[in-house]
Amino acid sequence: MTTVCEKVVYMDNNATTRVAPEVIETMMPYLTDAYGNPSSMHTFGGQVGDAVRKSRQKVATLLGAEPEEITFTSCGTESDSSAILSALRTYPEKRHVVTTRVEHPAVKSLCDNLETVTGHKYKITRLKVDSEGMLDMSEYEGALTDDTAIVSVMWANNETGVIFPVEKMARMARQQGVLFHTDAVQAVGKLDINLKELDIDFLSLSGHKLHAPKGVGALYIKRGTLFVPFLTGGHQESGRRGGTENVASIVALGRACELAGEKMAEENGRVKMLRDKLEEGLLANVPKSMLNGHKTHRLPNTVNISFEYVEGEAILLHMNRHGICASSGSACTSGSLEPSHVLRAMGVPFTAAHGSIRFSLSIYNTEEEVDFVVEKMPAIIASLRQMSPFWKG
Ligand SMILES: *Cc1c(COP(=O)(O)O)cnc(C)c1O
Repeated sequence: MTTVCEKVVYMDNNATTRVAPEVIETMMPYLTDAYGNPSSMHTFGGQVGDAVRKSRQKVATLLGAEPEEITFTSCGTESDSSAILSALRTYPEKRHVVTTRVEHPAVKSLCDNLETVTGHKYKITRLKVDSEGMLDMSEYEGALTDDTAIVSVMWANNETGVIFPVEKMARMARQQGVLFHTDAVQAVGKLDINLKELDIDFLSLSGHKLHAPKGVGALYIKRGTLFVPFLTGGHQESGRRGGTENVASIVALGRACELAGEKMAEENGRVKMLRDKLEEGLLANVPKSMLNGHKTHRLPNTVNISFEYVEGEAILLHMNRHGICASSGSACTSGSLEPSHVLRAMGVPFTAAHGSIRFSLSIYNTEEEVDFVVEKMPAIIASLRQMSPFWKG
């Protein structure tokens, strides 16, 4: 086996996470000896079906849901599309969707396409956020109409970690008879969720954001909420999602949810302490740096900081030389000089948005790593600023 990197300080966990060793151990038999099809009549396949059932129970437990409310999918993106398109097919006469300006591309692109590809058959309301990334609830209240088929609002933002009041928003939607979906891909495993008490109809999650492998996700569909399948085919997943189950990854997702449930309270506190130390260290030691996103209504693992007058991608390259992995809010490599739609929606000035870096921690980060990053960053930023025509430090 080849190793990819010598020494890595991985602080890019909102992009993807390491698969937990316990998770690998649990899924391994389903890649080797237990390769049966869960739909088969024989015991060999039946045992595999049992494993899928147990996994469904574990996912449900983490969410405070019932197993029959969980449908396994291939990823968070599929879960998002399935929920939104189901609502539009359930209520074909309704042509309005309410969402926000800061959604993940999984929801944003779908909504953009619903508008443009269908020749504006659908109307999309994209709720504004303020400079701290928070929503205006009065705008939301005014946006719900008799024509609204579904509201889709993320639970926590992947770039800033800002948490939206989805519990309250779901209640308001329910009172107006509107379906409510939340993209909770960044929230599951980081926040306490108890769907039993909430008016959320659909919730999306993804395995690779909580220490399960890539390519598996789940969609929660509240009991009683009508659902039209996105993928039709065999009668897998109670007819809600055709296609032979990705058994090993489904088992892995269940184990990852179980681990998250066991460790969440304790580990979140530790991760938050590390994140706070990182945040304070960077803001104190790098001049002209500032926090993007609300100070407290935020995931415990995420901090997004703008370093003014430098380019995010240049910062990342320099960080990479020290083995530090993070993400930037600008995307020059993708051919666009535009900073992220999230930071633009927050009104972050261009000089700051271009130099934004997202650090996202996990249970595997250590205090030594935080100290290392806080030690390296001031020199990285200072050296880049010396080359910047805009820097008058
Ligand atoms: C990663 C992510 C997704 C997409 O999940 P995939 O499993 O990669 O398709 C959707 N929404 C949010 C908020 C995410 O962070």
